Amino acid sequence: MNSIKVKNCSTCGTPFNCGDTPEGSKCWCNNFPPIFTPSEVVDCLCSSCFTTACSIKIDEYVATLSSETAMDNKAKDLPKTTNLVEGIDYYLENGNYVFKAWFHLKRGHCCTNGCRHCPYK
Ligand SMILES: [Zn+2]
Repeated sequence: MNSIKVKNCSTCGTPFNCGDTPEGSKCWCNNFPPIFTPSEVVDCLCSSCFTTACSIKIDEYVATLSSETAMDNKAKDLPKTTNLVEGIDYYLENGNYVFKAWFHLKRGHCCTNGCRHCPYK
């Protein structure tokens, strides 16, 4: 039913694959938080530019949260995804995973491990 289409990124022009694979895997964009209207943005950006667009939008949202409102944030009510996205959920620093505020927000509470980007403290 759904096939992979090759599209060109509207920001950088890089061709990218869009759609579910014939083997039944979901399109890569399903790993991303559903914070955009798919037809508007997901459909025309490559994964790299989409990561950038997503993280900017997330950073703006995180900036509006305080330690009190973080407990009741929007991210924890989004459908759970098992695949973490580099640049959205974490970034790599000297080979170590550093989880971003978005990852902690999805959990909905502090894990008390003193994470660098903890939004709850
Ligand atoms: Zn691009």
